[in-house]
Amino acid sequence: MAEKRILIVEDEPAIAEVLEYNLAKEGYEVSIDYRGDTALEAIRQNPPDLVILDLMLPGLDGLELTRFLKRDARTSQIPLLMLTAKSEEVDRIVGLELGADDYITKPFSPREVVLRVKAVLRRGTGTEEQQELLEIGDIRLDVAGHRLFLSEDEIPLTATEFRLLRILLERRNRVQTRESLLTDVWRYSEDVDSRTVDTHIRRLRRKLGPEAERIETVVGVGYRLRG
Ligand code: CA
Repeated sequence: MAEKRILIVEDEPAIAEVLEYNLAKEGYEVSIDYRGDTALEAIRQNPPDLVILDLMLPGLDGLELTRFLKRDARTSQIPLLMLTAKSEEVDRIVGLELGADDYITKPFSPREVVLRVKAVLRRGTGTEEQQELLEIGDIRLDVAGHRLFLSEDEIPLTATEFRLLRILLERRNRVQTRESLLTDVWRYSEDVDSRTVDTHIRRLRRKLGPEAERIETVVGVGYRLRG
């Protein structure tokens, strides 16, 4: 199997090199670009399997780069992992809404980055693949039959709870903003409030029993199902 190619877009050489070293050690083929605009050209010419990008970049910042990549069918499917500072919460949310897959807050441990990269690559492009059965731990969601099983027990779900759980399972290990859940689960009727998401998550957690802890709250952003 060919090595997965990862492009790191980061203008601080020390950070870029630590990432490069640790990812190369895992067997990935890694390259670095120190500017947003040259990175965009490089990605268009030879799309990598995953891009790790900083938000503050010369040439083109991380959010602009994300916007360009997601707008272009040739590059829109490439998974993006953002590197963000704690203070960049608003940009982080915008980035996730633009379609970035996940983010890592600086300072980070290289080990954490490697785990996130593996999780994102394992998921591939996600929702396009139609899976009949979504399984994780004791959770078994029969998509075709619209049924949830916990171990051997069938748990009744409403149609909305079912859609919510299905999306969280399909996009496991990736943060879902409240806004993206509203769009994808509720199809955004205007009278739906983002607290609706929280209410449904609460109900879903109650139904999931011990497996409920897989659904993590990402403060100020949304939810992530660990798998
Ligand atoms: Ca930077």
